[in-house]
Amino acid sequence: MIRATVADRVLDAVEEATPEIVAFSSELIRVPTINPPGEHYPDCAQIIADRLTACGFDVDLLPAEGAAHHTPTHPRINVVGLRRGRAARPAVHLNGHYDVVPAGEGWTVNPFGGLVRDGRIYGRGACDMKSGIAAAVFAAEAIRRAGVDLQGSLEISATPDEESGGFAGVAWLAERGRLTASRIDHVIIPEPLNVDRICVGHRGVYWFEVTTHGRIGHGSMPFLGVNAIDQMSRILDRVQRTLVPVLSTRTTAMPVVPEGARHATLNVNAIAGGQPIDGIQTPCVADVCRAVFDRRFLAEEGFERTKEEVITLLEEAAADAHIRYTLRDLLVVHPVATAPDSPVIAALERGIQAILGRPAMQVASPGTYDHKHVDRIGGIRSCVAYGPGILDLAHQPDEWCAVEDLVNATKVLALAVLELTT
Ligand SMILES: [Zn+2]
Repeated sequence: MIRATVADRVLDAVEEATPEIVAFSSELIRVPTINPPGEHYPDCAQIIADRLTACGFDVDLLPAEGAAHHTPTHPRINVVGLRRGRAARPAVHLNGHYDVVPAGEGWTVNPFGGLVRDGRIYGRGACDMKSGIAAAVFAAEAIRRAGVDLQGSLEISATPDEESGGFAGVAWLAERGRLTASRIDHVIIPEPLNVDRICVGHRGVYWFEVTTHGRIGHGSMPFLGVNAIDQMSRILDRVQRTLVPVLSTRTTAMPVVPEGARHATLNVNAIAGGQPIDGIQTPCVADVCRAVFDRRFLAEEGFERTKEEVITLLEEAAADAHIRYTLRDLLVVHPVATAPDSPVIAALERGIQAILGRPAMQVASPGTYDHKHVDRIGGIRSCVAYGPGILDLAHQPDEWCAVEDLVNATKVLALAVLELTT
């Protein structure tokens, strides 16, 4: 009975804070933290730090010293706020990234205006994921306003660069020991996965670059050279004929959404060969061609097998058509999956049922996000993504988040934090 009363007080506090939650989301959207290159990061970090301080957190602003893209022009700043309860553990950590992708074309509203209209907050980052940061902050604040003393501790971090891999953000915090299993028990990342869905992991990523090496010759006598673009086209043809159909037959047991991403996939990201296409052309046989591939692999496939398959394909193509090639790994992200019996899943499931009156759905993300660093570097297995906003609207023109979703997600987060820290 006492618990129910506490929960009710907290939920009332969230409800009453609605105008503040919306205003804070808007305020964050109005700082154009565009990545690349990473603009206005210190401004945004300071706004979040000030808010956390006002909400009773001890706040550290941590420049990502040593990180590759941390420069005087574009500093990478991490914000970590800690509110101690009666004990250090259990410790719950809510993490959101404050960088956003460029606005792009096709907007009918100012992408950095923070407009609120007809129950929606508009702007780049409205769903991915400045509303998520606001939800985390006000979930914590509602608990405080309800006069609840937490048993364990609560941390909120806001980090840069998730959109470009998270190396100066969550990975940096994990490497420095701030976000590791030795300090933290549960992590929730309020990414926009829809208000009734809990994200329990993602597929793996293998980006690789293939270069074909031909031999330059006069374009009027191409038979005297070896054309690297022709060679690359043979490789691409083999990829489409033999590899892609096989990948589409492999299905993961992880609940990846959308359905199409439940299979292994491959995308050709980029290709460049021969002379620069806008330059002055001379009659030459192209002696180099490079292509970049984005292979998303399933937990069931694993990285070793995935790479082996690529090498086999290249070797066969090379033997067939006397192709000289080199293969270079650009990025490897291993798949991650939350332990199914993880308390963070159970707490959010109960919260979603209580607030939305329907069962939560477990999903896995088609793409990777900061969960990988929490898991791989931080060693924290009890990590999920849960937050306001519709996944499909992320990175789109006229991105928005419904105020109703934002408030509901804040309530769910508050209930989950209460449960996990008491
Ligand atoms: Zn995001």
